[in-house]
Amino acid sequence: MNYKFCRQHTVSSEVWCKGIGLHSGAKVSMRLKPAPVNYGVRFRRVDLTGSPTIIAHFHHVVDTVLATRIGFNGVTIATVEHLMAALLGSGIDNVLVELNGPEVPIFDGSAAHYIALIQEAGRQEQALPPQYLRIEKPFFVSEGDAFIKATPSERFQVRYTIDFPHRLVGRQEYTWFFDSHAFHREIARARTFGFLKDVEKLQSMGMAQGGSLDNAVVFDDYKVLNREGFRYSNECVRHKILDFIGDLALTGMQLQGNFEVHKAGHALHNRFLKQLMTKPGYYAVQAPAAAPPTYFPPASLPGFMDSLQHVVKPL
Ligand SMILES: [Zn+2]
Repeated sequence: MNYKFCRQHTVSSEVWCKGIGLHSGAKVSMRLKPAPVNYGVRFRRVDLTGSPTIIAHFHHVVDTVLATRIGFNGVTIATVEHLMAALLGSGIDNVLVELNGPEVPIFDGSAAHYIALIQEAGRQEQALPPQYLRIEKPFFVSEGDAFIKATPSERFQVRYTIDFPHRLVGRQEYTWFFDSHAFHREIARARTFGFLKDVEKLQSMGMAQGGSLDNAVVFDDYKVLNREGFRYSNECVRHKILDFIGDLALTGMQLQGNFEVHKAGHALHNRFLKQLMTKPGYYAVQAPAAAPPTYFPPASLPGFMDSLQHVVKPL
């Protein structure tokens, strides 16, 4: 087994950005800082006394309405999933994320801005191999007609289907195989989506105060309200894969398995992990993987950084 090509990574340098929170609509600044081997992803609230830190872990998920929120000892960080997906998709295992508010900035509702930030920071190889969560036996959770089925596979792959009763969405299905090339090209730019009447209802309840056409694809009964339209014809199901990757990244491990997901959401993603991890024998933790994923710097992808120019707004 060749350990040389299978090491943990952190960011090479500290990087900073500023955006707004989806729930509060308030400005928040975020710093990514290099972290030692086996540190994982941790969030630090620098706006609070003592700057408390929360480990990004599925056992710390305290809320899954609209987005995934983690918390510990009463301190919470909301909307972690798109950043978590970007870190996993970019091959970053260890990083300290400092925030001066209770939410990760939403940016355009996709992972594109985080990818650009990680690219700016650079990627530093570390001394040890990463841990892999490997599916050993078929495992299934469901709720109503929604389900997640995991089966053994040498690679990390996700087949997701959604079915919304809306003429612009309907049934969509997409299969994605992990490497960072595929993540950046196929998944990272897919935005959160919602229906206008739902957004209005949430906002009347004091939620999603930062939600706007700048950070979600929004439909009325007939059309997409964003001037840009869809970035992919099946942007919605691609975004669901982004959410799923981000929620699974809360294992703190890289993944090996085939995941078939139907009409799920953050709540079922989280329940799946919590139930799976109580079933030794259905999964194994390994280091390193038999078939480690290949990392491609996003800048090496023709057109990717160009495509970001109109996606990422100047801060
Ligand atoms: Zn999302």
